[in-house]
Amino acid sequence: MDCIFCKILDGEIPAYKVYEDEHTMAFLDITQGTKGHTLLIPKKHVKNVYDLDDDTAATLFQAVPKVAKALKKAFNPIGLNVINNNDQPLQSVYHVHIHLVPRYDNDGMVLSTINHQDDVSKETFLEIQDAIKNALS
Ligand code: 5GP
Ligand code: ZN
Repeated sequence: MDCIFCKILDGEIPAYKVYEDEHTMAFLDITQGTKGHTLLIPKKHVKNVYDLDDDTAATLFQAVPKVAKALKKAFNPIGLNVINNNDQPLQSVYHVHIHLVPRYDNDGMVLSTINHQDDVSKETFLEIQDAIKNALS
């Protein structure tokens, strides 16, 4: 399969591995957005969050706090982002992965949400709530 992360799992492509268990593996992101930027992946090839089955999701997310705590202990960051990108143009590698990004003072990373609270009426909140609840049912 032409998947760069499957190749890392198979050892065909080298990576700086930091964690492995029966179902997951974590290794340093080649870009090192910040010091310690790590990717956590399931060993099962799954394209992205939309294709995750319950068991794979459970084992994948179970490993998140383990790696997060290790990054905190190793680098004492001021904070840490857990990020998962899905579909174009956000996702560049189509083997689902969780970014763990330790954050430091003035680290140059831009990642913040914009507060639209004042522009969103109660009716709109209710419409959005309904849309999501209907989609779930
Ligand atoms: P995405 O944009 O899909 O959420 O993130 C994919 C990530 O995979 C990027 O941050 C990129 O730096 C990383 N990446 C791509 N190819 C490789 C590789 O060969 N080795 C490692 N360690 N990381 C990679
Ligand atoms: Zn893969």
